Amino acid sequence: MEEASAPVLPIHAFEEEICHSVSKNSAIVLIGETGSGKTTQVSQFLHKAGFTKDGMIGVTQPRRVAAVSVARRVASEMGVQVGAEVGYSVRFEDRTSRQTRIKYLTDGILLRECLADPSLSQYSVIILDEAHERSLNTDILFGVLKRLMLSPTSKLKLVVTSATLEEHKFADFFGGCPVLKVPGRLHPVKIMHALERPISYLESAVETVMDIHANEGPGDILVFLTGQEEIEKAVKKLTDRVMTLEQGTCQDMLILPLYGSLPPEAQVRIFRPAPPGCRKVVVATNVAETSVTVDGIVYVVDPGFVKQRQYNPQTGMDSLGVVPISRVQAVQRAGRAGRTRPGQCYRLYPQSVFDHELPPVTLPEIQRSSLTGAVLHLKSLSLPGLDVLHFEFLDPPPREALGDALRQLYLLDAIDADGDVTPLGRKMADLPLEPHLARVLLAAADLGSLDEALTVTAMLSCEGVFTQRSDGDRGGSLPDGDGLGDHVMLLQLYRRWEKAGRDPDWCRQKGLQARSLKFAADVRRQLAAAVSKEADVRNGSGREPDRNQKSEKRRDGSTEERTVPLRKALCIGFANKLARRMTKHNGYRTMGEKSQLVQVHPSNARLQVDDDGLLPEWVLYHELVATSRPFIRHCCKVEGAWVDPLVRRTEGLDLQRLSGQPATLGEEAGPGESAKGAKVDRSVSGSGSQK
Ligand code: ADP
Ligand code: MG
Repeated sequence: MEEASAPVLPIHAFEEEICHSVSKNSAIVLIGETGSGKTTQVSQFLHKAGFTKDGMIGVTQPRRVAAVSVARRVASEMGVQVGAEVGYSVRFEDRTSRQTRIKYLTDGILLRECLADPSLSQYSVIILDEAHERSLNTDILFGVLKRLMLSPTSKLKLVVTSATLEEHKFADFFGGCPVLKVPGRLHPVKIMHALERPISYLESAVETVMDIHANEGPGDILVFLTGQEEIEKAVKKLTDRVMTLEQGTCQDMLILPLYGSLPPEAQVRIFRPAPPGCRKVVVATNVAETSVTVDGIVYVVDPGFVKQRQYNPQTGMDSLGVVPISRVQAVQRAGRAGRTRPGQCYRLYPQSVFDHELPPVTLPEIQRSSLTGAVLHLKSLSLPGLDVLHFEFLDPPPREALGDALRQLYLLDAIDADGDVTPLGRKMADLPLEPHLARVLLAAADLGSLDEALTVTAMLSCEGVFTQRSDGDRGGSLPDGDGLGDHVMLLQLYRRWEKAGRDPDWCRQKGLQARSLKFAADVRRQLAAAVSKEADVRNGSGREPDRNQKSEKRRDGSTEERTVPLRKALCIGFANKLARRMTKHNGYRTMGEKSQLVQVHPSNARLQVDDDGLLPEWVLYHELVATSRPFIRHCCKVEGAWVDPLVRRTEGLDLQRLSGQPATLGEEAGPGESAKGAKVDRSVSGSGSQK
């Protein structure tokens, strides 16, 4: 392990003040420029000052990649192994132990931990880090932690850290708690705007980097792009361009990508200084805007775009689109150039765009996301007197979005008609999956297709199984789902990989990422363990102990027949995401109130067609996305007979009762039982019990 010496950072001058303030107050807000040392140092200060004697320090991060990289950094500064005194916990990867005193974790994991231990008794201090990012989970944690802090028995301390100046909003939320400010040590950054928007910002970014490289003095370059694919493209273009440079005319260039699903080894390289005489160029997603600080950056290239999720509760349309950044983001990005010495920022858009077109601030995620998972979580916390519609949010989401979430949860059987979480809903919340997939696993356990469903869910939970090369060209030697869609294709693929002895060479030949498949196997193992906890409950209630046996024997027949139990389970989990083909052509109409005409996305595994060239009558889908026109993605063929009872459920649903009447929604429901006494399953695991 390379051991890092702790650098002297602006925050070090405030060590005593921070520790003192934390000891005197239950909550404080800490504001400091990015790179001032909030994320890596404050936990260490508090650890040294003895705050870890009766509990851990938990530091939340909105991004998985940040939690992992920062934990490594802190472990290395303290000279310990990751997983010992300093550890991290992100979904499907827990690197902590009994010894762990400082734990970096994603905000989603902390929210999940609240389910099992509502008082967060393992922690003495929670640092809600990167609060300025306003991620959905951090926003929910704000409300949950506030309730916890107000309880007279709680000794938990809270530190909210942020890079931008929303300090009063945060401090007011916690009843006017103290605000500490760490002055930044930012050098001036010269900002240059393009005269007009380029036709291709990717080309323009590459051009600008080459220009800086040829004409400007030493210093590393940071380029902001929107996603993995774009970043890989830019890296390739830059590499090609560098090859054409005449030997000796320029210094060398070290080009490094940085995005969320990058393997850990590659992430580490980002932080190493470039060798002497070499210029480092980091091509990054938004993660480099505030979560991760790379030293030595002198030039920033900012095309002014970011990839952002946008959910429309009226249509159920989820778009992951490239949108202009906000002015706050533009300022943050520019600031990355002035950390070590005066820098320069090249904005690939005109000054007038900055002044008049960019939105002033980024809309918090809670106001532009599907809240299905978040609402299930809140309801499952069984907070006394909780009323989701009147929950204390930092910025309340649109009422419509909450209503939509309640309706979706009802369709998934996660809440009953009175809005109370059902025993099934409680189990769904316990699984580390979004509600639809959680429902699939629980349905599969009942239908005897758990084995297959675990594989499919695990495969869906990990990114990048296909290498870029193979993505468009899956036909031929790789399984294609036999016309049933993505899920069956993923199942077949995983099985082939197992049959090939999980051989990395086989993966290379087939254009598959061995690392992703290994990760899927690990995820599968964890999911199996998580579901078996719930299955124990069922064994207790007199069901067959191992229904998987059955599916193992069902080896004869066509793929279509063999996968009936799997596809049925999927159909139940995606009951609110079904689409029916038009009678005469291959367009689909989505079910539900705001039905839409959609097409199957071209990336989907081939779906079977009948003699008339028509696609299956019914499919389920995961996402409704709008690019040039509305598409459904991750489709799977299902049968009308399975759909009928599910669709009928929506008829006569009293939305008012579900979402509009706080009197019923607000009633207290104890763990494992509904306040109305209906559908009570007392055998549900007691992990959610309250004080
Ligand atoms: P802040 O949270 O205030 O933005 P950080 O604590 O993240 O600041 O960063 C402080 C310094 O620690 C950075 O300037 C950088 O030099 C260093 N650093 C942070 N993370 C890493 C990492 N993963 N690897 C190497 N150095 C890092
Ligand atoms: Mg930070």
